[in-house]
Amino acid sequence: MIYLDNAATTPVVPAALEAAWPWLTAEFGNPSSTHELGLRAKTALESARSRIANWLDCPASDLVFTSGGTEGDNLAITGLALANLRGKHIISAKTEHEAVLETLDYLERVHGFEITWLNVDHQGNIDLAELGKALRSDTTLVTLMLANNEIGTTHPLSQIIQATHAVGALVHTDAVQAAGCFDVRVGKNGTVVAGVDALTISGHKLGAPKGSGVTYIRGRLAVEPLLHGGGQEFGRRSGTENVAWAVALATAIDSLPEVLSEAARVSALRDEFISQVLSSIPQAQLTGNPTDRHPGIASFTFAGLNGETLLLELEQRGVIVSSGSACAAGSDDPSHVLIACGIEAEVAQTSVRFSLSHSTTAEELSTAAAALADAVASVSGLGT
Ligand code: PLP
Repeated sequence: MIYLDNAATTPVVPAALEAAWPWLTAEFGNPSSTHELGLRAKTALESARSRIANWLDCPASDLVFTSGGTEGDNLAITGLALANLRGKHIISAKTEHEAVLETLDYLERVHGFEITWLNVDHQGNIDLAELGKALRSDTTLVTLMLANNEIGTTHPLSQIIQATHAVGALVHTDAVQAAGCFDVRVGKNGTVVAGVDALTISGHKLGAPKGSGVTYIRGRLAVEPLLHGGGQEFGRRSGTENVAWAVALATAIDSLPEVLSEAARVSALRDEFISQVLSSIPQAQLTGNPTDRHPGIASFTFAGLNGETLLLELEQRGVIVSSGSACAAGSDDPSHVLIACGIEAEVAQTSVRFSLSHSTTAEELSTAAAALADAVASVSGLGT
């Protein structure tokens, strides 16, 4: 099997599971308990937080452990929007993940927020001039993802942060796909996310278990919590902490390869794969920005073919991929991301996303490219 669906989820790194195991077995203490067992759990939790803080270059107290990307996006966006008294205006784009889109829909419906949706071009790029015009004195938050999960297009976060801070509003970024492939040190001058106010990370895209995650929320910014209770996580997220998953997440992050050389290595593999596909399959069209993109995402449309049949044909040839977002997979609706990019619904329904990991090899990719050409030939023979 050649697994090229790493944007949907990644296998758990063995070291992460090993590190988590004691905290699920003998070391079962509640980190809020004051006896020895509890104190040891608390120490493990805080050590995991410090290691992640070191990776993100931020104070440990700026991190909230969550159940993943969806919760992190909900917490950052709703939490900052409701606690911030500047106004009820938020700016985003329709290419965001459902976790962002649905949170904004909730804020609009239930709390009377007004959302300005920035246009994106055919490749999923926003226009910074349009952002500049959209920012207002009552804008509370701009939420734009670092790298898109379906088409890979990145947003120019540095400029977005600069423009937004100039009017006194906050910036949240969903870095669920980007973390591990981009330098996400929020406290380091010169990184693309330097100075961002909130940033979401999901563990299962990084070799940690599903249901693990962490969200950065800068300093003592007021956050209205989603979960009310015992006041854990600095009052930002009540509930007994999942020590094992926090330890697993920190260990998975510690196991990541050095980000810049790895991004260059994976990008080169991706580009070679893209050129193999485009040169061998006339119907193939690359989606997203051809250069400003996620190192590990290559997504195509195959106009005139049946996308679902193509996925099945690939699976029969041992190549595991998806049509786009795992959340939308299995539904007949075309991808909202491709529709936002102005791609016709019929064409959008033919999309196939290949997403690489740190362990993907050149050999696997050339086998996958050959399998794709073969699958396309077979599907073309069948007609649509
Ligand atoms: N944001 C993006 C960009 C994603 O790709 C995903 C998951 O695919 C999420 C948020 C949701 O993360 P989780 O599955 O951890 O809830």
